[in-house]
Amino acid sequence: MKQQTLAIHACARNAGENERFVASAPPLETAASFHYRSAADLTAVANGEIDGFVYQRYGNPSAAALQRQIAAIDSAASALACSSGMAAMHIGLLTALRDRPKTILAANVLFGQTFQLLQLMEQQGFLARFADPCDLAQFEAALDQTETGCILIETISNPLLRVPQIDSIAKIASQRGVPVVVDATFAPPVMSRPLESGATAVVHSVTKYLAGHADVLGGIVTCGEADAEYMQELGRHFGANLGPFQCFLAARGIKTLPMRMEEHCRNALLVARALERHPRVAAVHYPGLSRHPDRAVAERQFDRDTQGAPMSGGIVSFEVLDADQAKTFRFMNALQLVVRTLSLGDVHSLITHPATTTHRNIGEKRRQRLGITDNMVRFSVGIEDPDDIVADVVQALESVD
Ligand SMILES: *Cc1c(COP(=O)(O)O)cnc(C)c1O
Repeated sequence: MKQQTLAIHACARNAGENERFVASAPPLETAASFHYRSAADLTAVANGEIDGFVYQRYGNPSAAALQRQIAAIDSAASALACSSGMAAMHIGLLTALRDRPKTILAANVLFGQTFQLLQLMEQQGFLARFADPCDLAQFEAALDQTETGCILIETISNPLLRVPQIDSIAKIASQRGVPVVVDATFAPPVMSRPLESGATAVVHSVTKYLAGHADVLGGIVTCGEADAEYMQELGRHFGANLGPFQCFLAARGIKTLPMRMEEHCRNALLVARALERHPRVAAVHYPGLSRHPDRAVAERQFDRDTQGAPMSGGIVSFEVLDADQAKTFRFMNALQLVVRTLSLGDVHSLITHPATTTHRNIGEKRRQRLGITDNMVRFSVGIEDPDDIVADVVQALESVD
């Protein structure tokens, strides 16, 4: 079955085999514990001998439904719902690092918080090293420099929107027995499924496209059969579970993920093309544009939409011509529809200034080297009418001097 069908049906099948009906909505079960008539049954469920629920942290109907739904659309054997994307990132890394050397080879451009998580993990005895995953020769050389515990890459980097070849990286990693963790937040399961390309574990911020409506903070880790039990064990004991209400909202949101994502991609391409033509824009970064360095990789790696058009994601970054930080801020403040915020990937069109927010902590020199300039904005294109989005950006560009 295809993603749109799985997204709608996979969370509903929670009734037992003998039930005569299935509920139309995902379960919202807030119970912290489950009470048993028989002490023997409680023991058997608690020990995993028969299916059931005993205590919310060990599993509950709302999390089970969401996990089943995401596992289905992400081609995963198992999924773990976590209290945030960052909690999911931590558990994803620790799942991959089981019995491995404590070195993480990470992409040189990462989501800002992920970079900070790696710095904290370094205080705990881990070591993070960085290489450019879009330069395969450099990445392979870095892999051989020291014993690597696991690799960490993102499907689409932030904010420059580079697209590494996940299948090639998974191949050079598997030749050396190194697990690969992929943060797929920018390209949710309807666009790409890194487990199919050989990734070990995939992390999504549910807060973004998956839940999609800016009303849930959550994360998910997915993995194959071999790592499922260990990942679930980490989930049970770390206790960073996603609460039932957030699970309910996320599962509800995911039912429309495939069509939302198609719309995000279509709108983003329209916005990118309009910006590319605009005289007050110095540069546009979008993997759907023919000038983007990873255009071919994106086209091969990401699914086409139901009309046959390539999907390249919903984020467009661009640089305002001849603008310092103050002028870039004036442009942002002139937007009337597009909102200024730190988030991304929900129904609203959102704009962020990476140099002073998401990438402030990486330091001026590194920012310059990576090309995260003061005149760059990251635009998460929403699913409003594309004419309204483009008109707002154009009027804001034309009103600043
Ligand atoms: C938002 C985000 C995260 C973190 O997710 P939270 O739900 O905010 O904890 C991780 N990676 C990427 C790429 C993100 O965009």
